[in-house]
Amino acid sequence: MATGNINVSVENIFPLIKKFLYSDHEIFLRELISNATDATLKLKHLTSIGEASVEYGNPVIEVSIDKEKKQLRISDQGIGMTKEEVEKYINQVAFSGAEEFLEKYKDTAKDSGIIGHFGLGFYSAFMVANKVEIITKSYKDEPAAHWVCEGTTEFTLEEADKKEHGTDIILHINEDDKEFLEENRIEQLLVKYNKFMPIPIKFGTKEETIELPEDAPEDAKPETKTVDNIINNTNPAWTKQPTDLEDKDYNEFYRELYPMQFEEPLFHIHLNVDYPFNLTGILYFPKMSQDMNIQKDKIQLYQNQVFVTDNVEGIVPEFLTMLRGVIDSPDIPLNVSRSYLQADGAVKKISSYITRKVADKLKTLFNNNREDFEKKWNDIKIVIEYGMLTEEKFFEKAQAFALYPTVDDKYFTFEEFEEKIKENQTDKDGNKVILYASNKDEQHSYIEAAKDKGYEVLLLDTPIVSHLLQKLETSKEKISFVRVDSDHVDNLIKKDEEKISKLSDEEKEKLKEDFEKVIPKEKYSIQLEAMDSNAAPLIITQPEFMRRMKEMQQTGGGMFGMGNMPEMYNLVVNTNHELISEILNTKTAKKQERLIKQSLDLAKLSQNLLKGEELTAFIKRSFEMVK
Ligand code: ADP
Repeated sequence: MATGNINVSVENIFPLIKKFLYSDHEIFLRELISNATDATLKLKHLTSIGEASVEYGNPVIEVSIDKEKKQLRISDQGIGMTKEEVEKYINQVAFSGAEEFLEKYKDTAKDSGIIGHFGLGFYSAFMVANKVEIITKSYKDEPAAHWVCEGTTEFTLEEADKKEHGTDIILHINEDDKEFLEENRIEQLLVKYNKFMPIPIKFGTKEETIELPEDAPEDAKPETKTVDNIINNTNPAWTKQPTDLEDKDYNEFYRELYPMQFEEPLFHIHLNVDYPFNLTGILYFPKMSQDMNIQKDKIQLYQNQVFVTDNVEGIVPEFLTMLRGVIDSPDIPLNVSRSYLQADGAVKKISSYITRKVADKLKTLFNNNREDFEKKWNDIKIVIEYGMLTEEKFFEKAQAFALYPTVDDKYFTFEEFEEKIKENQTDKDGNKVILYASNKDEQHSYIEAAKDKGYEVLLLDTPIVSHLLQKLETSKEKISFVRVDSDHVDNLIKKDEEKISKLSDEEKEKLKEDFEKVIPKEKYSIQLEAMDSNAAPLIITQPEFMRRMKEMQQTGGGMFGMGNMPEMYNLVVNTNHELISEILNTKTAKKQERLIKQSLDLAKLSQNLLKGEELTAFIKRSFEMVK
């Protein structure tokens, strides 16, 4: 038997491994199964080119637990190692790999979050085991070898009598890591990291019901048989060619990824590129709600079918983190910090490739079946609008498919809508005015008023819409967006005809004074307008600019540094309305005040501004009047 000293300069590497990678202990299993997979695939390659005389067969990787002996075993039927190879690959390669890894990352390991994912290989076994054995037989005609190491730099290496080629790794699990002797825990890890690896992984057995034959008697009980419990799908959809897959295959794979997700995805994008970087994957657009935060972190990142992380921040543009699916790329450097990752050239290319593919897919869907695309619009608009705001390239591409629905459910692209309103809707500066509403119910009376005049009103209701409008206004020429309730529609859109007021200048002056006596100046600015006599007597409006800035503050984290905007409204008084004349002509101050207050409350009510105590008082007063 050979004994020896592993030649490393970091004297006690094991305590270091434990310390640095504490939070990621569980990755040892993924590392060992990756090695087992590599060893099996290497044998496959060698047999296929006639370099190995052994039979490749149908190899599996088996994981098993011996609770009594406190052992976890990973066995493969791969190429195995000769004694010399164990010396070389384990004592030298693996050790120096681990050493290098620790040297390089000991300062950054804690805060990078992704560090523990790759690079440690075989020696990660010592994170959970105080003793590790390797029993391995090479595919070459040489005796098997048995290597034992107890977590120091000393090891023993002797011949063993294993007959079949392949490698068994036996971990003697630490007292502190007993969880890794629990079947549930191991199965959970296998499912998390190895669910789509290319070589079948067996973990115990399970009972399977045997289908009854067609002619079985009615009272026949289905029988069960014991079969291997295979953890993984060795051939996941993203590794196949898009031409070999149908929609139903994509949907089935979606369910495999998200077993708890009952809703079908709206559509998918198959990613497949091998130059200048290697990347495959499938992204899905799920039905999206208005809340952007709850739906992030659903995309899974793999490297050669090994799960790495479900935090793809920095790899995928932020707006696409709302999507679901899988990305598999060996070209993403994972043993670096997130901030480095974002600056990495290859990663930037990957990110813009994904953005482009998503934009192209959306464009194709739009062109091929516009009706269907319109139906899906409300479920996907949040992603698209967010992408338009945050990625300039996407903004440009989105002009071809981003939709602007009207309150009557007609859908336009921006260009189409501009064409539609032509010169009919302009303001006094000659800008095209696009009227929009954010809530059909709350802004109902304003929408109706605008529609009565023959104007189109868009329904734009995502929480980030104010930011998007700001961006559209600066990137398009002579366009301004105004919400229907931001002023009286006749003030928003220029009209040629001059409205004549029934009231004289003196009467107007008096009317204004009367109102100002009753209505708080800090909150309302009173504005007299000659409107149609059938328009409302009083309208409360909130100027577009003020309201939009306020909304942008709320949704953009105060990025405009404006402090808190005051709540300020316009009270537009229709001097041509009968009620207004009546108010003007009321002689008793008390009665006049009551009329103004009641009218103001009604105007507030129609803007959803009458609440709490004021609302209660109003209701009470109204009942009194009805009585
Ligand atoms: P890496 O896999 O990154 O090379 P590891 O430390 O995980 O580093 O492994 C070192 C080497 O040991 C591998 O390159 C391989 O040659 C050998 N090895 C590890 N596990 C096995 C195995 N199950 N079968 C055959 N060889 C293995």
